[in-house]
Amino acid sequence: LPPLPSNSPIGCLGGDSFSRYAGATRFDQLPLSKKTVDGLRDAGYVEMTDVQRATLPHALCGRDILGAAKTGSGKTLAFVIPVLEKLYRVTWGPEDGVGSIIISPTRELAGQLFDVLKTVGKRHNFSAGLLIGGRKDIDTEKEHVNRLNILVCTPGRLLQHMDETPNFECSLLQVLVLDEADRILDVGFKKALNAIVSQLPKNRQTLLFSATQTKSVQDLARLSLKDPEYLSVHEES
Ligand code: ADP
Ligand code: MG
Repeated sequence: LPPLPSNSPIGCLGGDSFSRYAGATRFDQLPLSKKTVDGLRDAGYVEMTDVQRATLPHALCGRDILGAAKTGSGKTLAFVIPVLEKLYRVTWGPEDGVGSIIISPTRELAGQLFDVLKTVGKRHNFSAGLLIGGRKDIDTEKEHVNRLNILVCTPGRLLQHMDETPNFECSLLQVLVLDEADRILDVGFKKALNAIVSQLPKNRQTLLFSATQTKSVQDLARLSLKDPEYLSVHEES
């Protein structure tokens, strides 16, 4: 596979470019920014896992995705990388506000994925915040939230900001991620998620990941995804 020059700001945008990357097995064979490839390598990520190989070529082309793969299969990088690349390609800057929202079911999982985002994204200039409630005073968060580029949040806390934070602004949102969607729905956040999705701009990319494809995950996919790729990765047996 001939990778694009690693400093190219624009990777796969048109025509046959998806098929150019469909057979990639290593991150450095994808059309990624040098900042992301270096961040991945520094963290020891070189070869892609199955779910990353299946989803990244689509996600990097800007498509909506429903990705189903079991716990431990590497779903986090399958959305962290497209979020970083999308904001980088559109030259999102510190003054541009919220460009991506990543929703996770629990404080603990949100904290873990925030750490991955910080590690892999450390060479980028985006600001990111963990909005999970409990830990921090919401009034302090309210003062900062509009200056963050990437929000990692639990549904309840995000909805609280949408309802209460003056001038909470995400009208230019580029990428929405719903991580561990089956668990978000299991822990009773269906109404909160519907309320959140209904308040977000429709012109965005949405990446939905789940360990299982339940009926309620399918319902959420219908509500939140546009012409999605359904990618289900099973273990070889
Ligand atoms: P999931 O969300 O599917 O449960 P995670 O994204 O949490 O899985 O990843 C599970 C583990 O696999 C983590 O320890 C992560 O660091 C590791 N991992 C993910 N992708 C890779 C990769 N490409 N190479 C090596 N390790 C990886
Ligand atoms: Mg996960």
